[in-house]
Amino acid sequence: MYVCGATVQSSPHVGHIRSGVAFDVLARWLRVAGFDVTLVRNVTDIDDKILAKEKSENRPWWAVAAHYEREFQEAYRILGCTPPTVEPRATGHITQMVALMQRLIERGHAYAVNADVYFDVRSFADYGKLSGQKIDDLLPAADSAQESGKKDPRDFALWKSSKPGEPSWPTPWGNGRPGWHLECSAMAEAYLGTAFDIHGGGLDLVFPHHENEVAQSKASGADFANFWLHNAWVTTAGEKMSKSLGNSLVVTEVVKRVRPIELRWYLASAHYRSNLEFGDAALQESAVAFQRIENFVRRAHDIAPSAHGGNIPAAFADALNEDLNVPAALAVLHESVTAGNTLLANNAPAAEVGKHVADVRAMLDVIGVDPLADMWAGSNSGANEKLESVLEHFVERQIAARTAAKQAKDFQQADAIRDELRSLGIALEDGADGVRWTVE
Ligand SMILES: [Zn+2]
Repeated sequence: MYVCGATVQSSPHVGHIRSGVAFDVLARWLRVAGFDVTLVRNVTDIDDKILAKEKSENRPWWAVAAHYEREFQEAYRILGCTPPTVEPRATGHITQMVALMQRLIERGHAYAVNADVYFDVRSFADYGKLSGQKIDDLLPAADSAQESGKKDPRDFALWKSSKPGEPSWPTPWGNGRPGWHLECSAMAEAYLGTAFDIHGGGLDLVFPHHENEVAQSKASGADFANFWLHNAWVTTAGEKMSKSLGNSLVVTEVVKRVRPIELRWYLASAHYRSNLEFGDAALQESAVAFQRIENFVRRAHDIAPSAHGGNIPAAFADALNEDLNVPAALAVLHESVTAGNTLLANNAPAAEVGKHVADVRAMLDVIGVDPLADMWAGSNSGANEKLESVLEHFVERQIAARTAAKQAKDFQQADAIRDELRSLGIALEDGADGVRWTVE
């Protein structure tokens, strides 16, 4: 699978990260179904938008790109996305891009005008097929200011000559930097070869980005992708989510309002091709729905802690095999949780509860939201509650021992207990109504 990754020029918001979650669910399902998945998700680390940030952020373009690349990786990580097999950066694959342009020029599909290189859209008969458009209906390509030498205004830039002060790399046609579309064609071939199974990305990439990827790769002689999957948008008030809505939609802010596992559930539970209208009420409602499932898993796990090796119900598998129909699969999951709660209410034997919860966890694992999975350890309130309870018992016992020592006039022992707690970062405060303790 090749999935178009982020242009690393701003902090990731939930609209950006939906794609990461959707294709992670697909990769998880393919692996469970027995496929050997190689997932390539690129990082676009050179782009007009990144260069524009040099001024506003007062640091070099490569520092801007590195900073936001780390923010994206952190957002993917906290939402439990399995890391791709490889995350190639555009700037690390200039050699492959130059070779691809050379092939396109030799085959008569591209031409250089000074140090700009353009793709000749009229040379490729299928141009427009992916997005269902005719060349004559298309607007001029909006990717270059220096359009004087273009054969057709719809020809798009493979390579852009550099302006003074801009980063550039040498090519046989002059110094410049890659166009966005060329990057993905070159990186897909570098890691997946000239033919591969699935190409994914956001719905807004169908045209021109993916149309241009197809043109470049097929015109160069590659078969390219067999299947295309495009995830829909996260919308706010019916519009595609945009940066202008501010920080409240940045992933690191949203996970202060719900837990990361609940945000992942929210993003993953819609069909990948459906728009997802984002709002705090919908987010909280979704979190409550997830907690119902989580409560069942925790209660059942307490009764049958060693249960493992669950089976995926056929109806759940059928739903995912039908264009990754997650909502239909989750209907199977909800039914199973309801049946599991009935088992608990009827005090069913532990073995029966265990078999049931193992199946539920197998389904949750495909979506990446098994609350007992290692990836969520420490980040969910259930685990934290247990730790807090252990700490509370420990400190209360120490306080009781200190009080007993004081009453026996063994002040040396009482002070030793207080000092040991302090060395662990726990402060005691004697008051009129007893001893209070705090973690410093
Ligand atoms: Zn791409």
